Amino acid sequence: MNVPLLDLVAQYRTIKDEVWSALQRVVESQQFIMGPAVPQLETAVAQLSHARHGVGCASGTDALLLPLKALNLKPADEVITSSFTFFATAGAIHNAGGTPVFVDIEADTFNIDPETVEAAITPRTRAIVPVHLFGQMANMERLLAIARRHGLKVIEDACQAIGARRSIDGEWRVAGELGWVTAYSFFPSKNLGAWGDAGMIVTSDDAVAERLRRLRLHGGAKQYHHEEIGTNSRLDTLQAAVLLAKLPHLAAWSGKRREHAAYYSKAFAGLRGVTTPVVERANEHIFHQYTLRAERRDELLAHLKAKGIGCAVYYPIPLHRQECFAALGYKEGRLPVSERAAREVLSLPIFPELTREQMDTVVGAVREFYR
Ligand SMILES: *Cc1c(COP(=O)(O)O)cnc(C)c1O
Repeated sequence: MNVPLLDLVAQYRTIKDEVWSALQRVVESQQFIMGPAVPQLETAVAQLSHARHGVGCASGTDALLLPLKALNLKPADEVITSSFTFFATAGAIHNAGGTPVFVDIEADTFNIDPETVEAAITPRTRAIVPVHLFGQMANMERLLAIARRHGLKVIEDACQAIGARRSIDGEWRVAGELGWVTAYSFFPSKNLGAWGDAGMIVTSDDAVAERLRRLRLHGGAKQYHHEEIGTNSRLDTLQAAVLLAKLPHLAAWSGKRREHAAYYSKAFAGLRGVTTPVVERANEHIFHQYTLRAERRDELLAHLKAKGIGCAVYYPIPLHRQECFAALGYKEGRLPVSERAAREVLSLPIFPELTREQMDTVVGAVREFYR
């Protein structure tokens, strides 16, 4: 049996009618640019994030870039982020005019390690960009305390973590609620995926929300009046309609991912060669990815691929070792936990529509490899 890493067609079959009728309403109104579905989605996602404002934009990358631009960074200004993340996190820092400073991760959660953040702070540091990697939140309480002490902004990269929660002082806090601003991606493969590119920023800072609304529309709140230079980064109305139709399903889909993760982790318990994902006690994980640490990872990957099982390495090269950042001068060995993760991680199929049979196929193939 073939098991794809992600089966968007399986999801499409379950929501086809709802999404098509939402799309049809947009098409019949011909309001493609900033139609009513955009502010509706902004309100809904802000609510979900316990934030006052949602600002739709063209992608998760722009949802990081626009708030970084709002910091007016100069080239020597530093923004601290994790080396073990998708490229967009660091690319946005550079494209906003700043310098990314890469720090290491916690070995168990793969999330940014607050201790390494604190050690990297200099007089030029302006902001911290924690990434809630694979769907579980970073240690926000420690990061916020560090940021407060040093007067830094916190921009949450929640592109993989919409709806994730963390218990802080006995209270559930959601991704998007704690940072200065938070970036979401609705790339089709994310837990809440559009039928194309889309993104959103949420924040409870009224002034920055207004600024972000300007920046996504060429820097002008009023048409043909430009207070500053922005860009065109609107959230497409058709994509907003897709996302509004899918949003009511998000909690159930993330619940399914959690169930599948529990099934895998039980099935792999005691298997020598793999370490199953660690969920921090304070966290409710949404399992954007189910990521193992695996001995002989590349051989396991080849074995699974040969059996028709989708799997992938997120991420094979930590960002401090990317060619484009060579000028920053990070040598091999500088961020050992990220470098080791890049050698050992392997993500397995975890999409909500996965069947028990498919999971048993995956488990059987992994077990067979280590036998
Ligand atoms: C997907 C993703 C992004 C970028 O989102 P796009 O919508 O693809 O631009 C940024 N950061 C992380 C961690 C992501 O997973």
